[in-house]
Amino acid sequence: METVLSGIRSTGNLHLGNYFGAIKNFIKMQHQHRCYFFIADYHSLTTHPTPEDLHQNVRQVLVEYLAAGIDPEVATLYIQSDVPEVAELYLLLNMNAYMGELERCTTFKDKARKQTDNINAGLLTYPVLMAADILIHRATKVPVGKDQEQHLEMARTFGKRFNRMYNTEYFPEPYAFNFGVELIKIPGLDGSTKMGKSEGEGNAVFLADDPKTIRKKIMRAVTDSGPTEMNQPKAQAIENIFNIMKVVSSDDTVSYFEDQYNSCQIRYGDLKKQLAEDVIVFTTPLREKILEISADDVYLSKVARMGAEKARESAAKTVKEVREVIGFKPF
Ligand code: AMP
Repeated sequence: METVLSGIRSTGNLHLGNYFGAIKNFIKMQHQHRCYFFIADYHSLTTHPTPEDLHQNVRQVLVEYLAAGIDPEVATLYIQSDVPEVAELYLLLNMNAYMGELERCTTFKDKARKQTDNINAGLLTYPVLMAADILIHRATKVPVGKDQEQHLEMARTFGKRFNRMYNTEYFPEPYAFNFGVELIKIPGLDGSTKMGKSEGEGNAVFLADDPKTIRKKIMRAVTDSGPTEMNQPKAQAIENIFNIMKVVSSDDTVSYFEDQYNSCQIRYGDLKKQLAEDVIVFTTPLREKILEISADDVYLSKVARMGAEKARESAAKTVKEVREVIGFKPF
């Protein structure tokens, strides 16, 4: 059994891409490994949210992960800022993180280009905080996408550097978690190849969307003027609709519309109507669960407390041991 750690962005509602690309795997994984899932609210401060937004965002993310099936009794689901030990390890790791390597990080360079009015030190040391998140539980597996590979490499560098510096093998090396299956990528409804929360209106179907909103979004999905030849290759936008259908509809439904497309008889209105109904059947129980959990403050506070307790137990042990290695001694 490995220790797995996954950070969760603390803003934005979950969409079908998050569900099929990440959460479905988390739900399975939580029964196979020692899993820590945390909501990254310290990380979110680099963009300066208001106190109200900060709290509301974290709350909504917590609600949606619980509704989607993360079991707080099985996995450790916690809010990053509930574990101040993370901040201490971050401070300690910062002493051995070099400006040059942080400045070379592509995500930093990207961010610095995009938000020129707010290039704060938190942005620069983001990989150090991420390393602290991982190393605090001495996790060895981290489910990350390609864009996070460089950060993970830096976490290995910081851990190894600490080990070398103090002549210890304290931190194990964290590697990307391999789900053992090809990662599913859910496309957007606007013809783009990825469903994403910041891709603009109409790109994504959120788990919390009501049926009316889902119908409206899907009926507006981008299509083309239709096939004119038998077995014509599909345009990206049409391929996207079929690909979403493949995850929510029955095989029979998919092959019915494939045949209709291949024989040039397809009516996109019917295709989209069917997709909307199948998405609604899929998301309705999740939406109902989201509403139910969101109304239950007592349960949410119990979950957050339990998560913090379990995470702090592991984090406090690491920080205590790291302090000893470094040479901090009680008088
Ligand atoms: P994000 O919402 O962008 O923070 O994404 C969180 C995680 O959800 C990512 O690391 C991916 O594993 C997954 N994810 C996001 N969008 C998609 C998508 N369109 N298709 C598949 N997986 C996705």
